[in-house]
Amino acid sequence: MREEASIRYRIRPADPNAHLFELELELDDPDPAGQRFALPAWIPGSYMIREFARHVMSIEARSGARRVALEKVDKHSWQAARCRGPLALRYRVYAWDLSVRGAHLDASHGFFNATSVFLRVLGREHDPCAVEILPPEDDAHADWRVATTLERAGARPWGFGGYRAADYDELIDHPVEMGRFALVEFEAAGVPHAVAITGQHDTDGERLARDLARICDAQVRLFEPRARKAPFGRYLFLTTVVGDGYGGLEHRSSTALLAARNDLPHRGMKGVPDGYRRFLGLASHEYFHAWLVKRIKPRAFTPYDLERENYTRLLWVFEGFTSYYDDLMLARSRVIGTDDYLKALAATVTSVAKAPGRRVQSVAESSFDAWTKYYRQDENSPNAIVSYYAKGALVALCLDLTIRERTGGRRSLDDAMRLLWRRHGRPGAPAPEGLAEDGFPALLEEATGVALADEIARWAHGTDELPLAELLARFGVALETKAGATRESMLGIRLASRQGEPSVASAYAGGPAQRAGVSAGDTIVALDGLRADDKSIKALLERRNAGDTVRLHVFRRDELLAFDVELGPMSADEASLRIDEKAPARVKRLRDGWIR
Ligand code: ZN
Repeated sequence: MREEASIRYRIRPADPNAHLFELELELDDPDPAGQRFALPAWIPGSYMIREFARHVMSIEARSGARRVALEKVDKHSWQAARCRGPLALRYRVYAWDLSVRGAHLDASHGFFNATSVFLRVLGREHDPCAVEILPPEDDAHADWRVATTLERAGARPWGFGGYRAADYDELIDHPVEMGRFALVEFEAAGVPHAVAITGQHDTDGERLARDLARICDAQVRLFEPRARKAPFGRYLFLTTVVGDGYGGLEHRSSTALLAARNDLPHRGMKGVPDGYRRFLGLASHEYFHAWLVKRIKPRAFTPYDLERENYTRLLWVFEGFTSYYDDLMLARSRVIGTDDYLKALAATVTSVAKAPGRRVQSVAESSFDAWTKYYRQDENSPNAIVSYYAKGALVALCLDLTIRERTGGRRSLDDAMRLLWRRHGRPGAPAPEGLAEDGFPALLEEATGVALADEIARWAHGTDELPLAELLARFGVALETKAGATRESMLGIRLASRQGEPSVASAYAGGPAQRAGVSAGDTIVALDGLRADDKSIKALLERRNAGDTVRLHVFRRDELLAFDVELGPMSADEASLRIDEKAPARVKRLRDGWIR
């Protein structure tokens, strides 16, 4: 441990089978009036109150050999009695959340975000801290290593031992993996990068390294076209592979990813299958955040208030634009072709078109209510909310295409990204306090010379449909929509399977089923007198037309109900995008400037 750090943490995977980390926190000079400690209520990047302190167990405080009284004062915080110091806390944290947001420990590996384990010393958030990461005690784990971008205090890379952070904000921005991960290493923009893969897998590491290096290079060039300098000294993709899973959380020089095993590339793999594109898109998304949201921030996040919700109406910029660029950078770095890019973009268009909530909530409202709506979805969510990710990406697309068209391809959304970076992100930037809530339209105009305040008001603060087809047509890309393969759209429901029985996951607002009285949660037992299962519902709807009435028997709780539902037309919300090869040279140039 480093001598000069007056706050010292020690973490040990004490009992992997009980999923318990053991923690020690030493403080030389606690607040003499009584030191307070707290765990964050949420983890930056994941906008939901998670109350991490609920997993803290058997906490006690000592000063030397003397016990110091420690009182829990609210759901996140503890108050120590008056004490001159030194003060040491000892506690355990239950870690059995296999997600990118929490902590997880068993005999195969350990993973933690500091927000789950390291108590914040209130009033001392700006003090440097030392961290000692200890290995499991038994010999069975002697081959475990550590993967994190926390600054190493000792010399041995990937080792247990001493680490440090300049302050609490830095401490909680470096997740830690320990175990027998595989390492895939590469260089991008002159900076060492690595992927640490945890879990059973058969990844073609060379292919992964080659593709990621190109994507990372392209992003560094986007923000720093001249200097080509990354804002970090190294970067780490902490990747946990599982049978089925998907998720990512951004940090300043690393990201924690959860991915499906079969989404990773295997030896001899041809092309870029959808699963691998999804994985690359996720990695690209979190990497882009190293600039947008980790360094360029909404003003509402500078600093983060870790005790409560941090409201901003700008997640459609910080998450939506990141979602726009994640797949676009795969195409621009030529890891995927234009056709594959348009396929991914069409999927985003479809996902927005499918949810009636886009007509009642704007992406600015969706950003503000992320804490209670986007992150806490229920059966009514398709009717009530719009994704600031998906629609935010389409707003970014509309802005980008409009700027490119009006400037003959001389300016683009890239210029706005660079101005955001120079003004709010880069070391020494003049306005590190971040983007003001109403600051984006003026910044966009300053960067591109194009005034788009009215469009932003309609597209981001209103619920108008986006002019996607018109704009794309001017770039020689045809947007077509047709009815998808899911026949249940004739009923106006989203089907789910509950213990093998079909049930109504959501009844779309104003749809045929809802009008007839069918409700989310109903179990469908019969359709026109015949027993219903996933297959028979589809088969029967194949043989019916819009305007026909079908009799639906459902159980609501344990009561049998019957409804006559007049079928609607299949909704034409399946989007596809096609390159117009006959577009004039000027249009092709615009298109190439955008995608290539
Ligand atoms: Zn994101």
